[in-house]
Amino acid sequence: MSKERILVVEDEEDILALVHYNLVKAGFIVDTAVSGEEGLQKALQARPDLVVLDLMLPNIDGLEVCRQLRASSNLSEVAIVMMTAKGEEEDIVKGLEYGADDYIPKPFSPQVLIARIKAVLRRKMPEKCDRNETPIVVHDLTIDPRRNRVTAAGKDIDLTVSEFKLLSQLAAKPGWVFTRTQIVDAIHGEGYAVTDRAIDVQVVGLRKKLGTCGIYIETVRGVGYRFKE
Ligand code: CA
Repeated sequence: MSKERILVVEDEEDILALVHYNLVKAGFIVDTAVSGEEGLQKALQARPDLVVLDLMLPNIDGLEVCRQLRASSNLSEVAIVMMTAKGEEEDIVKGLEYGADDYIPKPFSPQVLIARIKAVLRRKMPEKCDRNETPIVVHDLTIDPRRNRVTAAGKDIDLTVSEFKLLSQLAAKPGWVFTRTQIVDAIHGEGYAVTDRAIDVQVVGLRKKLGTCGIYIETVRGVGYRFKE
């Protein structure tokens, strides 16, 4: 397997050095940048598989870097893991909506960061296959998109169209955090407006219908929801 290339963008030198050291030790090819400008420049040159991106950067911050990476035709597919500080929940939500794949709150252990990076790189691959046709099977839950059918712990579950869409969206990417806005966008098109609050209510109802499988839908405080990995 070829080595994956990672770009780390962080203005705090101690953290940059620590992350760099541990990623190299884990077998990745690592480039570094100390500002948003340099990060964007190096991303274009080095074409990394994944960018570890600090949110708090001088001038061009991490959110803007994330937005520009996604908007760039050459880099729109690159995986992005944001490093965030306490109290940045709003920025986490924005970052995920700008297309970041995951985030890791500071302070973190290098082992946890590497585990997250590997998980994101792994997840990026199966995304390419056509998941609109094949049934999603996670734990004892089966979701068949073609027949709009859900089976939980061996029982057929009767879901509304929006509950079905909500569950399919989350279960298609276990471990992936979705913000409420992202969920609203996915459910849209049913002819009425969906609010963040309505999503919370729907999740409660969905968990109840799923019975023992309800625990697979996890709340990520201040950010949104994810399907248990
Ligand atoms: Ca910083």
